[in-house]
Amino acid sequence: MRDEFTTHEVWSLECQCCGRVWQEEYAVRHTADERGHEAVIWTQAGEPVQPPWSGVDCPGCGASKVSAFPQGGRLRPAAARVDAGSGRPPVETLYSPVPRKPPVPLY
Ligand SMILES: [Zn+2]
Repeated sequence: MRDEFTTHEVWSLECQCCGRVWQEEYAVRHTADERGHEAVIWTQAGEPVQPPWSGVDCPGCGASKVSAFPQGGRLRPAAARVDAGSGRPPVETLYSPVPRKPPVPLY
């Protein structure tokens, strides 16, 4: 019995040559042969294609030096960053002042 399913993936691609950033959509077929070895087939519009990290050329300048990131990867760092400086009370209020003991006379 063959186990097969398809996932839909969007990858962001960035050209290392001209800096162009674009996205590609893939339908990824996960299949297993009779021995249970997994086979992954990347397709676009039903046609097998190279996976995003291999063999993608920049549509702008044609360079093959292209980096690929899964959707939600490092291309959107600003949205994921939380401003840690806001909403925090000043350090002074975190410590309750300790009253000084009056000096004890030694004689
Ligand atoms: Zn380019």
